[in-house]
Formats: sequence, structure tokens, C-alpha cells
Amino acid sequence: MAQSRTKRLPPLPKSVHSHLGDIPVSLVDDLEEKKEALGMWEMAPRRISIHSKAAPEVQLQALYHEIVHVALMDSGVSNGLVKDAEEAVCDAVGTLLASMSLAGRLKLT
Ligand SMILES: [Zn+2]
Repeated sequence: MAQSRTKRLPPLPKSVHSHLGDIPVSLVDDLEEKKEALGMWEMAPRRISIHSKAAPEVQLQALYHEIVHVALMDSGVSNGLVKDAEEAVCDAVGTLLASMSLAGRLKLT
């Protein structure tokens, strides 16, 4: 039987680590620049915003999606990707990381 995912999730971290310094994570009611988005990574001033009204599991997946954007940007990989390809990579890796986290195999601290 599959393990239930209905257990209470811990709150999102206030920041995530990067080799260029910790990146603040905020819950916001409105992502001003991206009306339909669930999360947003801004390279200046290096911050991640997550939509506050999304379900906790969706917030977690959005956070991992944005963390992958950070990794692609900081490594320079994003310079070689068109926008749609970068979004597809962030969706794929972000979904995997969120799934691992929801299964208790990966923790954000
Ligand atoms: Zn994205």
C-alpha cells in the first residue's frame, strides 16, 4: 500500500543554501510579475518567492523548481538553454526532488 502523503508538511525553509550565499525564501500573496506562477526566482536580488495560497505540496514543488533555476543560473547552464527547455528541466528535476522530499527521502533544512 502506498504511503499516505496527507501527513503535515514542515514549513518551507526561510532560506536555501547556494555557493554564492543563502537565498531568502518568502511566501507571498501575489507574484506581481508572473500572475499565473506558483513561484519565482529573481537573480537580482537573489530571492525566491512562493505563492502563499498554493497547497503545501504545491509550494514544496514550486520551491524545488525555483532551486533548480538557481542551480542552472549559478552554474551557467541556463546560458545555453532556451526558456522552454529550462522550464522543462526545472519541472522535471523539481518534481523529482519534491517527490523525494514528500517520501521522506530528502530534507530541506
Ligand atoms: Zn520556472
